[in-house]
Amino acid sequence: MKIECVKTHHLRCNLDEPFGFSQWFYNQRNVLVIEVITDEGVSGWGECYGPADVIQGAVEKFYGPRILGKPALSTDAIWHFMWRASLDFARSGVMMAAMSGIDMALWDLKGKALGLSVSELMGGRNRDFVPCYATGMYYTDLPEDKLLTSLVDEGAGYANEGFQAMKIKVGKNPEFDIKFAKALREACPNTQLMADSNHGFDLPEAIRVGRVLEALDYLWFEEPLAPDHLHLFDKLQQKLDIPLATGECFQTRFQFNSLIQSNSVHLLQPDLAYCGGPSEALKIRAMASANGINVIPHVWGTQLNLAAATHFLATAYHEPGRAEEKTLFMEYDRTENPLRDEMYQTEIKVTAGIAEVPTAPGLGVQICPNALKKFDINSTETKL
Ligand code: MG
Repeated sequence: MKIECVKTHHLRCNLDEPFGFSQWFYNQRNVLVIEVITDEGVSGWGECYGPADVIQGAVEKFYGPRILGKPALSTDAIWHFMWRASLDFARSGVMMAAMSGIDMALWDLKGKALGLSVSELMGGRNRDFVPCYATGMYYTDLPEDKLLTSLVDEGAGYANEGFQAMKIKVGKNPEFDIKFAKALREACPNTQLMADSNHGFDLPEAIRVGRVLEALDYLWFEEPLAPDHLHLFDKLQQKLDIPLATGECFQTRFQFNSLIQSNSVHLLQPDLAYCGGPSEALKIRAMASANGINVIPHVWGTQLNLAAATHFLATAYHEPGRAEEKTLFMEYDRTENPLRDEMYQTEIKVTAGIAEVPTAPGLGVQICPNALKKFDINSTETKL
């Protein structure tokens, strides 16, 4: 079974209400999805995290033509072929995001060809349901007092829906962040809370905010510092007891190895649509396991990436493991995204904050062709 065709679709939609975090505001959603089709008519889908139009060029012009004719089930062999073909200039960044989406599509394809779900391909499910944490509480264009009330109401809403865990944004400014973190803890005393600054703090600010989060029993402090300053993570970790999480900006086993070797991070968060795909995420997890660290994917995007993360966590085991297992909560983005919520005819079912692991072959989610047309602003096709 050989790869005969690689299609890409740049999908876009405008948002009803822009929302922001420590770095910028979103007023649009964009994503690149990839379909790989074989000479036997089996097809697989993947998605990429990052600038869709730029990644589209990498798939259409570079990787797509090179993988045509390759044996479609050889996920690892194709990954290493792509890696070698772009070795000097694509060790990370958008080229690796392109490889990630192709790799994800090949896992979906392999599952469909063999009649196995991706979790079965990954070694078998440890669980049929994956508890999720709600990611939300982004900023809107309100004065801070009204914003704080609206964010706390949003969080209380997730708790009422049944979510056992949720993650807030911090990094607006430390004064607001501290007020918000305290108010949410009061409103949701029995919910696991996490906080993510998207590398919005310098070291003194991260220490200050981190100490508050720690006192409020937050579960982890995500991207407290810029990914480029690993030596500062070490300094921060020496000041705080709260676990530090990071990894959505990191790619490949090689970058994650540096992160692990820094001995300053307790939770790794590779994005399966960016880190090198499911193939590379499994290698990162094996390395993390060898070092006693857990992995929970970063998930931002549509149902394909959510499905990949669901299978990944269905096959995960907590390090070091025990009879009463600690939960590895999956990230479940709750911000507005029609490309996630209005484009699929088969989705990941999430009920009261618990995701059901699909048992259908492949990733187990399916794009509706008409919805694809609605959001598609540019598509490409590379054929044998
Ligand atoms: Mg994050």
